[in-house]
Amino acid sequence: MTISEALGRVRAAIEGAEAEAGRPAGSVTLIAVSKTFPEADVRTAIAAGQLVFGENRVQEAATKFPSVKADFPAVELHLIGPLQSNKAHEAVALFDVIHSVDREKIAAALAKEMQAQGRFPKLLVQVNTGERRCREVHGLTIAGLMCIPPVGDPPAPHFALLDELARRAGVPFRSMGMSSDYETAIGQGATHVRVGSAIFGYRDYGAA
Ligand SMILES: *Cc1c(COP(=O)(O)O)cnc(C)c1O
Repeated sequence: MTISEALGRVRAAIEGAEAEAGRPAGSVTLIAVSKTFPEADVRTAIAAGQLVFGENRVQEAATKFPSVKADFPAVELHLIGPLQSNKAHEAVALFDVIHSVDREKIAAALAKEMQAQGRFPKLLVQVNTGERRCREVHGLTIAGLMCIPPVGDPPAPHFALLDELARRAGVPFRSMGMSSDYETAIGQGATHVRVGSAIFGYRDYGAA
């Protein structure tokens, strides 16, 4: 299957899950997770109409996306993996949305960089739903919550909990659901699904 065909299938499945959940068409944003895949694959996906991408490492994204963004200013790049505070400078410069704000130190580093650069990526707090724990972040505008359910757990209760926590916190974005469970996540209120292998294929970490 080509990337374009795979994207078509995932988009159709998202539409189906939206309808099934009684949610408006287009209410879920597909984040195409391009980690480990080359810039050429990103460009192929763009040619197929995909503009929202996710990467889980700042360093890797920095090798692919500056030139992609220069050619396609409408591309929106999401950081979905862990952020180290010493990468906050690069992350704020490169990403449009950061899903992995998970501790005070990162919040502080981001706040400082955002002020310094005058660039304000949307921020999501990553919630460890497996441990039913949420950390408060002060002094930053938070757009939403993100979770990755523990491997082996049925994901639906984790998604439902994230939706409930987001509702209580009054934040609009719920980043949840990957290739194996994004339709379930849409049923539980996901606004952003992070889909990699179902679009780009098997990831060879050895080669990355
Ligand atoms: C890699 C990754 C994804 C995509 O995973 P697939 O199973 O390939 O869809 C989603 N979210 C995060 C945080 C990831 O690191």
